[in-house]
Amino acid sequence: MSSIDTAVASDANTPLMAGEMSPQTLYDKCWALAHNLWWTWHPEVINLFRDLDPIRWRQLDHNPIALLREFTPERLATRASEMVLYSRINYAHRRLKEYMANKQTWAATHAGVLGNKPVAYFSAEFGLHESMPIYSGGLGVLSGDHVKSASGLGVNLVGIGLFYDQGYFKQQLDETGFQREEYLDTKVENLPMAPALCPDGKPITIRVDTRGGALFAKVWFMQVGRVRLFLLDCDVDGNSPEDRKLTSRLYGGDERVRIRQELVLGVGGVKALRALGIYPGVYHLNEGHSAFGPLEVIRERMVDDGMSFDEAVRDVARHTCFTTHTPVPAGHDRFGGDMIEEHLGPLRDQLGISYDQLMGLGRVEPQNHSEPFTMTVMGLKLSRKANAVSQLHGHISRRMWAQLWPWRQEEEVPIGHITNGVHIPTWLAQQMLQLYDRHFPAQWIYRMGEPEVWQHIHNVDPGELWETHNALKNQLLAFVRRRVSRQCRRRNESDDVVEAARNVLDPNVLTIGFGRRFATYKRATLIMSDLDRLDAMINNKERPVQFVFAGKAHPKDEPGKRFIQQIANLRHDPRFAGKVVYIEDYDMNVCRHMIQGVDVWLNNPRRPLEASGTSGQKTVLNGGLNLSILDGWWAEAYDGTNGFAIGRATSHTNDEVTDRRDGESLMQAMENEVIPCYYDRDVDGLPRQWIKRMMMSISTLAWRFSSHRMVMDYARLCYVPAAGGLSCDMSVK
Ligand SMILES: *Cc1c(COP(=O)(O)O)cnc(C)c1O
Repeated sequence: MSSIDTAVASDANTPLMAGEMSPQTLYDKCWALAHNLWWTWHPEVINLFRDLDPIRWRQLDHNPIALLREFTPERLATRASEMVLYSRINYAHRRLKEYMANKQTWAATHAGVLGNKPVAYFSAEFGLHESMPIYSGGLGVLSGDHVKSASGLGVNLVGIGLFYDQGYFKQQLDETGFQREEYLDTKVENLPMAPALCPDGKPITIRVDTRGGALFAKVWFMQVGRVRLFLLDCDVDGNSPEDRKLTSRLYGGDERVRIRQELVLGVGGVKALRALGIYPGVYHLNEGHSAFGPLEVIRERMVDDGMSFDEAVRDVARHTCFTTHTPVPAGHDRFGGDMIEEHLGPLRDQLGISYDQLMGLGRVEPQNHSEPFTMTVMGLKLSRKANAVSQLHGHISRRMWAQLWPWRQEEEVPIGHITNGVHIPTWLAQQMLQLYDRHFPAQWIYRMGEPEVWQHIHNVDPGELWETHNALKNQLLAFVRRRVSRQCRRRNESDDVVEAARNVLDPNVLTIGFGRRFATYKRATLIMSDLDRLDAMINNKERPVQFVFAGKAHPKDEPGKRFIQQIANLRHDPRFAGKVVYIEDYDMNVCRHMIQGVDVWLNNPRRPLEASGTSGQKTVLNGGLNLSILDGWWAEAYDGTNGFAIGRATSHTNDEVTDRRDGESLMQAMENEVIPCYYDRDVDGLPRQWIKRMMMSISTLAWRFSSHRMVMDYARLCYVPAAGGLSCDMSVK
C-alpha cells in the first residue's frame, strides 16, 4: 500500500459519532482506497466515490484523488452521513486490506517458482483507467489488463513503463470534421503515484549514458492491486531542457525521441529495478519498445557473475520472454546505425562488442550493412520464449520472421501464440455482473476462467437478459446524447443543432458500434463504400439501423484523419443525421460505454493485419454480438453460432480487390443475417434467435478471451519455465 501523506490537517476536536470513525479516519480510508488502482475494477468502490458528488465525479474524469482534494474531512463526513456511506467505506477498505494480505492465490499453487523472483513486465503504455492517460490504444489496455489479472491471480509481477506527463492527446474535431490534438499537462498530485524509493529510503534517479551525454530519469511508483508498477520520467534536473520533455508524450516526436524513450524504458527500466533492489527471475518484453533492456541485464551478468558476453546472452535469453503485437511492418521500430551507435555506444563498450556485432543483433541478416536495426528482431534474438497474440497472428509472425531461422521449416519457427484477453471485472457492466451473480454459482468471479461457470447463462430467462441489455443500451444512448450535444456546443453551433444532438439515436433501433484507433488498415469507412445502399439500410422503415463511431487517428496519420472526417461529416447529410454519430476523444471511458451498450460491435480490418483486437472481447461479456472479419481473435473464436462473420477467411493480394469484396460481404452479412435476426420478434417482442446468439457468445467466449486465462497461459508457458531456466523448448505453442 502506498503511504502518501494526505496533506489534510486532522481535526482532533471533532467529536466521534457513536460507533463511527473520526472524519480524518474516514478521509484516510477513502484516500487509501483511491491510492490503489484496485478500486478501478470494483463497482462498489466506484459507486462510493461517485456518490460523494456525481457531477464532479464525471467532470473530473472519474478521478477519486482529484475528487477527494475538493473535500475537507469534515465535509466528507457530512456527505458520508447524508449518503449513509460509512459502512460502505469501511467495508471497501477492509476488503482491500484482505485482498492485499491474501496469500491463497492461483499463483501460490501454480507459479510458486516466481515467489521471490518476480516477472519484470515491460511495456511502453499501460491502460489502467481513463484518469491516467498513459496509453493510446489496444497495446496499453492489454498491458493494463495483464497487470490487473496478474494481481488477481497473485502472479509475482512488477510492471515497468514510462510516465508521460502530457500523455496521449485529447481529440476534438473542428467545424470541418478534422481532428485537432491537444496535449494537457497531467497533474501528478492527482494521480495515485509517489516517488519510488531505494531500500535506504532515498528517491531513485537512474542514469543512462549516450555518446552525446547522460540521460537521467526519476521513477514513480504506483500500486495496482497486488502488483507494483514503476514509471520512469525524464523531467528531472540534470537533463537538458529538451530531454526533460523526452517522456512528455506517448508516441510523440521523431525517430530520435523514440529511440531515447526506448533507451530509458529498456536500459533505464533494468537500472531502476536494480536500484529498487528487485532481482527479477523473468523479463517479459511486451512489444519491441523495451528490447534494449536485455542488453543491460547482460552487462549486469558479465559484471556480477563474470560471464563472457556469449554466456551472458544465453543466460539472459533463457529468462526473457518476448511478445510481438503487430504484423503491420510500420508497427516495428527500426533505427539507423548512427542512432544505435549514439545511444547504445557506451553500453556496447562495456559489453566489449563491436559495432557490427551490436547491429547484427537487430538485423535479420547480421552482415547486411544496409539493413537497419529492428527492435523486434533483437527482442526475438534475446529471448527464448516468443509469442504472437492470436493463433492467426502466430502463423503470420512465423512467416514474417522465418528468415531468422533459415534452417527451419516455417511451422517450426519458434514463435508461438497466446491469444489476448480482457480483464472481466474492468469491462463488465454492473447490471450484467448482477445478472451473473444471480444465476451463476456463488463466488463465480474467482472461477471466471472455467467454461462450466459460463454455461449457466443458458439458464437465464431470455427476457431478463434482453431487459438487462436494453438498460445498458439506454445508458449508452444517454451518454452519446450528452457527448454529441456537448461537441456541438463547443463548436458554437446553433441551438437547433444542439437540441437535435440531444435526441440522436433511437433505443428501438439496431445499434452498431465501431470504436478503435483509426489506423487505415482498420477501414473505418468500409461501411460507406456505397452510400445509397447504406441509406437504404439505415432508413428502412421496418428494420432501421444506426451507428456509433469513435476513435483517434495518430497525429501523423493524415489518411486516418480523413476517415474520421468522412464519418463525422455524415451528420450534415440529412439521410444520416442523428443516425450515424461520432463521439470525440475515444478513451477507456468511451470504450466502456460503447462495448457495454451496443447490440453489435463491428470490426472490419484488412486481414491479416489485426494481430488480435480486444474490444470485441469486451462486448461479449456484456451481451453484445460481434460482427467481424475473420481476423485476429475472431478467426479462432467464431463458430457459426456465437456472433457474425464478414466474408470468409481469405484476402486478395490486391488491397483494392480485398476492400471491395469485404465491403460487399459486410453489406450482405448485415442485410441477410444481422438485421433479420435482430428484428425477428416473437409474440412477447423478444428476438429469440438473437438472444440465443447472445447466450452462445457469452458461454463460448467469455472465459476463453479473458486476461485471467491469458496470464495463466503466460505463467504456464513462459514465466514458470523461464524462471526455472529449465525448458529448452523455444516455442510457446
Ligand atoms: C480495448 C481498447 C482498445 C482495443 O481496441 P481493438 O481495436 O479492439 O484492439 C483500444 N482503445 C481503447 C481505449 C480500449 O479500451
